[in-house]
Order: sequence, then structure tokens, then C-alpha cells
Amino acid sequence: MDNTVLLEDLDAFAYREALASGEAVVLIPVGSLEQHGPHLPLGTDTALASRIAVGVATRLGALVAQPIAYGYKSQQKSGGGNHLPGTTSLDGASLVGVTRNLVKSFLGQGVRHVVFINGHYENYQFLYEGIDLALEELGLGSGSDTSVLLLSYWDFVSADTLARVYPAGFPGWDIEHGGVLETSLMLHLAPERVAMERVIDGPAAALPRFDRLPVVPGRTPPSGCLSSAAGSDAAKGRLLYEQVVGDLVEDLATELWVAPMGLAVPA
Ligand code: ZN
Ligand code: MN
Repeated sequence: MDNTVLLEDLDAFAYREALASGEAVVLIPVGSLEQHGPHLPLGTDTALASRIAVGVATRLGALVAQPIAYGYKSQQKSGGGNHLPGTTSLDGASLVGVTRNLVKSFLGQGVRHVVFINGHYENYQFLYEGIDLALEELGLGSGSDTSVLLLSYWDFVSADTLARVYPAGFPGWDIEHGGVLETSLMLHLAPERVAMERVIDGPAAALPRFDRLPVVPGRTPPSGCLSSAAGSDAAKGRLLYEQVVGDLVEDLATELWVAPMGLAVPA
């Protein structure tokens, strides 16, 4: 298949050619299988990370690997909790191990840069640990011209976009679970997977400043969402998607010194 950015669709000879340039960049989307209330699919985090990765890779001339479609345990204060049906998670050690395996495999094959695009809040430190262990095993110290980058896509949402998406005030990234950001992005990217008539509108979750284990299930709103998805629409999703992908392309191009279509390489 020509012109695909998806590794799963690429043939081995085309992949070998991409590696031979010495400049191959592979993006790995990371998500979860996690309840997102009655209106969004369990695969929301994986779907959003994957779609953003494809948007970035297309403009950057990068490749997109199979996503890591399971994530670290959902936590009550950021994802409603791991006790909820549908939420199907990995132990920290498992996610660290998968991450470590992937970094070693891709860099071992000659990929120049690996970029993890995270879409599930709880994953971040385990991805970091897996990357760090892999680099240690590969003997790649500071100053190497091979690298691994790690990011969560919401960290690229600009203040201006936030003000337009949340005219009544931003509730905070930790409780943006099944709320306006994820729902609007899904309405733009995969509207057939969203059931807006099933949105449960209510106040944002009020959670303590500590974590309690085992969780007190009653502290999670009955919807499973931590803030309301009311007010989500495809136009907000489009704004979020275009702005985040644009900023990601710009940052990655600058950092990795590759020339994306339509962007100049920094001098
Ligand atoms: Zn989510
Ligand atoms: Mn999540």
C-alpha cells in the first residue's frame, strides 16, 4: 500500500527503505480500554491518541505504530476509578514492560526517534519508566542523536483554544474525563461513535484532595464522567484537533530536525 503512515499497512520492504534513510520517526499512540460514561465508547482514549498521531505523522512524514490499547489503572480522581465495568487495565509493571519492549525493538531496528502520544491520563509515569529502562539497557546516554519523546496530547491545547472551548471556565485536566474535550474531539473525528442523547448532564465531580484505597465508589458520579459533556460539539472538536496537531507538528519538527510539508526547518 502506497502513502500509508500506518505501520500495520506497510510492507516489510517499504519499512526497510524508511529505516535505511536513518531518519525514520515512529509515533506510538497510547490509550486505554476504559468507561467514558453512557455516550462515548470504551476505546475513546486509544481512538483519540491514534487519530492525533495519524494527523501529525501525515504532515511530519513519520510512521504510526500499532497503539498500546490498554492503559494503567483508571484512578477515581482522573478516570472515575478502576472498579467500573468496562475499565480493563494493566498493572504498572506490565505497561512499563510493554513500553520498554517497544522502545528496544524500534530503536534496535534503526528507527531514529520514537514518540509516544499519550491519550490516557494515568499512563504517563509508566511510559516514562519504560523508556528510561530501555535506554539504559541499550546504553544510550545523553548526547545520543537517537531519542524517545513522550507527551500527552492535551498539554498542547493552547490557552486561546481553552477559552473558546470552555466559555464558562475550564474545569481542569484531571476531571476532563468523558467531558467536553473528549466528546467534542470524538464528534469531530468519529461522530458515529458518540451518542449525545445519552449524555448525563450534572455538576463536575467533587473529589477529596487525597486518594483513598480501596475507593469509595459513591464518590464517582453515577455517569462515570467527571465533568459534563453538555456543550460539546464538532466545531469545538475541530478547533481542538487542528490546533493540537498543528502545534505538535511544529514542536516535533523543531525538536527532531525534520522538514514537514509546508514548514521550514529551523536554522
Ligand atoms: Zn479518556
Ligand atoms: Mn483515560
